[in-house]
Order: sequence, then C-alpha cells, then structure tokens
Amino acid sequence: MIKGVVARISGPVVMAHGMRGSKMYDVVKVGDEKLNGEIIRLDGDEAVVQVYEDTSGLKIGETVANTENPLSVELGPGLLSSIYDGIQRPLAVLVEKSGSFISRGITVPGLDRGKKWIFEPAVKSGDRVGGGDVIGTVLEFNMKHRIMVPPGISGTVQEIRAGSFSVEDTVCTLGDGQKIPLIQRWPVRKGRPYQNKLDPTLPLITGQRVFDTIFPVSKGGTAMIPGGFGTGKTVAEQTLAKWADADIIVYIGCGERGNEMTEVLSEFPALLDPRTGKPLMERTILIANTSNMPVAAREASIYTGITIAEYYRDMGYDVALMADSTSRWGEALREVSGRLEEMPGEEGYPAYLATRLAAFYERAGRVVCLGSGGRSGSITVVGAVSPPGGDFSEPITQNTLRIAGTFWALDTSLAYRRHFPSVNWIKSYSLYLDSIRDWYSESGFGDWKDLRDRTMYLLQKEVELQEIVQLVGPDALPESEKAILEVTRMIREDFLQQSAYDKIDSFCPMEKQYWMLRVILAFYDRITEAMAKGITLSKILKLPVKAEIGRMKELSEVERIKGLIPGIEKAVATLEVER
Ligand code: ADP
Ligand code: MG
Repeated sequence: MIKGVVARISGPVVMAHGMRGSKMYDVVKVGDEKLNGEIIRLDGDEAVVQVYEDTSGLKIGETVANTENPLSVELGPGLLSSIYDGIQRPLAVLVEKSGSFISRGITVPGLDRGKKWIFEPAVKSGDRVGGGDVIGTVLEFNMKHRIMVPPGISGTVQEIRAGSFSVEDTVCTLGDGQKIPLIQRWPVRKGRPYQNKLDPTLPLITGQRVFDTIFPVSKGGTAMIPGGFGTGKTVAEQTLAKWADADIIVYIGCGERGNEMTEVLSEFPALLDPRTGKPLMERTILIANTSNMPVAAREASIYTGITIAEYYRDMGYDVALMADSTSRWGEALREVSGRLEEMPGEEGYPAYLATRLAAFYERAGRVVCLGSGGRSGSITVVGAVSPPGGDFSEPITQNTLRIAGTFWALDTSLAYRRHFPSVNWIKSYSLYLDSIRDWYSESGFGDWKDLRDRTMYLLQKEVELQEIVQLVGPDALPESEKAILEVTRMIREDFLQQSAYDKIDSFCPMEKQYWMLRVILAFYDRITEAMAKGITLSKILKLPVKAEIGRMKELSEVERIKGLIPGIEKAVATLEVER
C-alpha cells in the first residue's frame, strides 16, 4: 500500500509526499481521521489531494494512505429513494453515525448491505453473455432493476441462481470463475460505455407549457436554466423533478442553501407521481451537497449523479438529471484551482472550465445500450446556472450556452412582476424543434409547430408594437394591431404563466397545452375575421367567452377546453348578426 505524509494544507487541498506509484483520481485516506480525498495532480512522489471533508485539525506529517481505487460509486438495487452526499454516502447513515450531515472520516457504503433482493434470472447456464447483457432482474419498488454484466466482462454462464440475495452475494458465475454479484462499481469521472447515440427525436414532457409547447427539450437533450437570484431556478428544477415523464430522476442539490434542500427533502417523500399514483421518491435519487458542506465534495457531486444516471440509462430507462446549481459547482472548481495556484482564466475560473463543462453535458444523450436486445435509454440534463447579479455574460453561463440544446433564460423583471415561470420568450430557444416534430404529429398534435411558430411571431410582434406604444401612445395603433396586443396578453397570462403551486395547473398534460393554445389562436383568427367585417374590437372584448379563455388553466377536462372553439365561433357570429 502506498503511504505518504501530509506536507502542506490549504483548505480542502492537501499536498502529500511519498506517494510515488499513485494514479490520478485514486482515492486516499488523509490523516489520523482518515478524511476522504482524491488525487488530482501527481508530480514525482508528490500528490495533490482534494479532500471531501473539512480539513481543520489536520496536521503536517500525518499519514496519507492510498486505497488504489479511483473515486467510484456503487451501482445496484437500493439506489432509488436514496439521499446521498457528494460522494455517495447516505445522509441518514451519516447523521446516525455522527449526528450531522457534515461528518469526517466516515466511510459508509452507498448501498445497504443488509437488505435482501429477490433475483430472477433471465439467462441460463451455457448462455454466452457480455458487457451490458441482462442476466436477471430484481424488483426495486415497481421498477424492474436489470442486473447487467459489467462492461468489459464476458464469458459463458456456468451457474446462475434465483432467490434472495444481498447486493454483494454472487448470483452468477461465468466459466472462467468470474463472479457477478448484484452490485457493480464504476469510476465517476469516466462515462459508462454504450453502443451508439441516437437522434433526439422524443420530447421530455414536463407538464409545463412554456417548456413543452414553446421551448421543448428532447429526451437525452441538454437544457440550461440561467437566472438571477429569486427568478425561479430551484422551483423550475423541482417542478421538472416532480412532473417530467422520465422513469428515473437524479436531483443534485449542488452548493445551494441548506434550507432549499431541506424543502426538497421534506416535500418529496409526500408527493405522488401523477402518472402512476406512486410516491415520487420511488423513482428519485437525491444528492445533496449544500453550501455548508465541503466544497470539494460539491465538485464530485455532479459526477456521482451522472454516473448513477448512466447506470439506469444502461438498463434502458429514461433518466432526467437536475443540477442546481452548476455555478456553485464551477465555484468549487475555481476554489480548488486557486489553491493549486493554477494560472487563472476568465474571472478566476481555471482555463479547463469549458472542457469540464462540455465533458459533463456530453454524458447526456439517448443511446442504444451496451449488451444485446437493443435497449435504448436516455439521460436528459437540466442545469441551473446562477450568474452573479443575473449577468449572463459571465463564464459559466457563456460556456454552458455553447453546449446546451435548450436555453430557458429566466428573467428578473418577469419574476418581479410575478410572471412565473419567468422564462423570457424572446431570449430563450430550443434547438430540438425540428427533430421532435414528428413525435408531436404522431401524438395527435399535427399542427403543433405551426401553432408554436405563430405564437412566437405574435410575441415578437408585441415587442415592436410596445415600442411604438411607448413613443406615441396606444391610440396611434390600428385596430388590427390592438387586437394583437390583446391576444399576446392572453398568451402571456392565460398560457405562459403557470403556477407551480396550483393544484390543477402545476401539471398541464400535453393534450391540454395543445388545446389551450389552439383556443387562444382560434380566438385571434375569429376576431380578425369579425373586424374585417366591421365589428369593433371593444365590442368583441366584452364577450363573456373571453373570460372563459382566462379560466382554461383551472379546467382538468380537455373536452371543455375544446368546446371553447365552437363557443367562440358562436359568440362572434352573434355579434355579426346584431350588426
Ligand atoms: P432561485 O432558485 O432562482 O433563486 P426560486 O426557485 O427559489 O429562485 O424561486 C423564488 C420564488 O419565486 C419562489 O419562492 C416562488 O415564490 C416564486 N416562483 C418561482 N417559480 C414559480 C412558479 N412556477 N410558480 C409560482 N411561483 C414561482
Ligand atoms: Mg435556487
């Protein structure tokens, strides 16, 4: 075993001598308290270690012992509903052992060793298996947890057993004596292999109108949510974690205030999945590394999260990963880099910030999984970005912009006006509109793209018209343009605004979204026609059907929303007769 000594300590960064033979990213135990750390630089017999725990009290000359294993996570049954810290230690066990989340020198396995799982084999002795092949399943809540041959291993099944096992028990033995237990380990810094990437042709439906209808993200796509303090990033991430139509949710609370994470921890266990009626925690893994927890573990937390996400993707599931906030992750990177006395890049961030960010988002995607059977799975990554002062020109926002396929720009002035979600419809974009178009057509929303484009056209037109109004007042506008302003107000208030706290409106099914928008645009078309026949706008705006459009959000039956279209026609026709 490689054993060195502490030579220098700078916050979470420790330099050790006598470490010759170590490898990059080896996990080490630092000092008498055996603090967990990871080698992040090697030079001769000198190793620089980032320590995942508070280093106060650590002294020069104490031992640094190399475990000679890279920083890894445990993958297997029992992940779902877990709440971990940044290096996959179950928070509940930490609290039990040390009385706090912020413990030192404690090594706790990520997966419960005592729990038994019922394993059902899917192959028999004599079958040839290779990396990624499913050898059997266990039921994890209601989820078929596929037990896969770890990547890189292959052989002929010699023995496979059904029955009740704990995660480390061997369930399958291969001809050459290799034993496969329920658990596997994977180094977090390395993406898990797959066969090939697929095009982003399916949307991730989130139940949020401004996302699904206007700026969709695909399954396997990437989205960023930048926004200043209080613009609704955390609410958006939590809303997605609740309602997105993914099989598995990995939620990383990264460097945000402890009380925000407490909200998640207390609220989530009570929530039910609207599609299955089962507790949402049964499909969720929470990783909490709040601002009061050690900074280096925060750096690791996003890798721990995405590796777990890849494992479920490999089973053939759709995973959505939320990271709140990637800015806090970048700040952790900056702090460690500063301690290493590396040459600082823009705003003190290390020069490799862009590469690290890209490498993280690159692990998103929809893929054909490793192994036979042609399973496909996906990881959608949604990263919140908290630029200081809401200024999008800073490095984390700018570097993420180059990578993310969907950009949900949260807007301080919209949030101030209580327009939520405060997604700025002029600045935001989605690069997936064309690739997912067929899905919408095949799902019964054939003209979705046209409706969406008309909506965007009207909203852009509104900006121009508002400038004119600012200059010369509203009376200068022709009736047809006043009508546009009326309709865009409806689009904003009756469609884009959506309360995360309303019992009915917090989740809006795609069909309802589609019909809501159709109704608003049908109203626009009918009033344009009526005005061409000489009916005044003010008369049309007094129609009671207008108020009904404003109450669509409250309706849970789509049929009643559909019924508004003939309702509008009838009401407008009455005006024409009266004339
Ligand atoms: P951030 O994480 O960007 O600092 P939060 O997500 O904590 O901001 O949101 C701040 C506040 O904005 C919330 O407490 C809530 O009152 C309001 N808010 C944000 N999004 C919504 C929403 N979709 N519906 C209703 N209120 C919202
Ligand atoms: Mg927040």
